[in-house]
Amino acid sequence: MLEFAKRKGYAKILDPRIDFALNSIEVEYRRDPLTGESGRIAHMGIVAAQKIDYSVWDKPEHHEMCPFCPGNIERSTPRFPAELIPEGHIKKGGARVIANIAPYDRYSALTVMGPEHVMPLEKMSAAYLKDAFEAGLEFCRTVLEKERELPYSIIAWNYMPPSGGGLLHPHQQLIITDEPGNLYRKVMRESKNYRQKWGENFWEELCRREEEAGERFIGRIEEGYWLTAFCPQGVLGEIMAVFPGRSTIYDLDEKIIDGLVKGLLCLFKYFDSKNICSFNLALFAAPAGEGEKDFSLHIRVIPRFYMNLLLYTPDMSSMQVALQEPFSVVNPEEQCREIAPFFKS
Ligand SMILES: [Zn+2]
Repeated sequence: MLEFAKRKGYAKILDPRIDFALNSIEVEYRRDPLTGESGRIAHMGIVAAQKIDYSVWDKPEHHEMCPFCPGNIERSTPRFPAELIPEGHIKKGGARVIANIAPYDRYSALTVMGPEHVMPLEKMSAAYLKDAFEAGLEFCRTVLEKERELPYSIIAWNYMPPSGGGLLHPHQQLIITDEPGNLYRKVMRESKNYRQKWGENFWEELCRREEEAGERFIGRIEEGYWLTAFCPQGVLGEIMAVFPGRSTIYDLDEKIIDGLVKGLLCLFKYFDSKNICSFNLALFAAPAGEGEKDFSLHIRVIPRFYMNLLLYTPDMSSMQVALQEPFSVVNPEEQCREIAPFFKS
């Protein structure tokens, strides 16, 4: 059954901070309850995000250089072939889906989320986020109508440079593919294995168990269960929203998007309170007609930051990149207690 496996280890050092007395410093090892992969919680409280003011990059000379800013987007960004999207771009409110000039796949697009070159988290509105997600979904569904054999629709977001976002102007990544990436593939496979072995949907069981225990259960917004991940992928943790009973992108209707957006806006208030101004986000959906019963639609949000602003030290090192071992400096249970009040206001 679903298990939250963890154990502790201690490093003994003669600590200069306490006059070289013997100190025992805790490291916690955890296993992801679905994949069984390891991660650890260490360096508790030693690092924190520092506020970065991107508004200094929001001047007319910066807008002129930006391909996504009004006036440039029509002439500097690629259009889709007419047989796919006759208008060249998909538009929804202020959001616009364009073809990616540096594609990751056969169908690789970007949602330019609005005309604003810099959009701080505290200024994002529900309409801004909703238009972007809906425009992205329209692109996914348009491609899938023509390419039914492509099972995976990926909506991802690298917000601001610490996350790998190459342009300040907010944009989301859209990829329709049969190669969804290692984690996506593993999550689909293990969700199927879990149901075969235990006769239950892992994700529904996860929501039930987390709500019951309360330790990592942030709260419920509409149909979404917001949780801190037991074995987080990010140095500043990982937040998930799981939608039980929904599995494919066709289940992402207006009601689900409204709930998702509402939850994200609560989460962004928490991020702002912690000076977190960058994150990676990805949406995981089951391929239509395959594994729907094994799987629940979910998103993962992973805060990103520079370890220090003097040297721009990234928050990923050989631990995550070469050894593929995530480690977090925040305790998911404590982080849940910190986030929960933002979901009640
Ligand atoms: Zn711009």
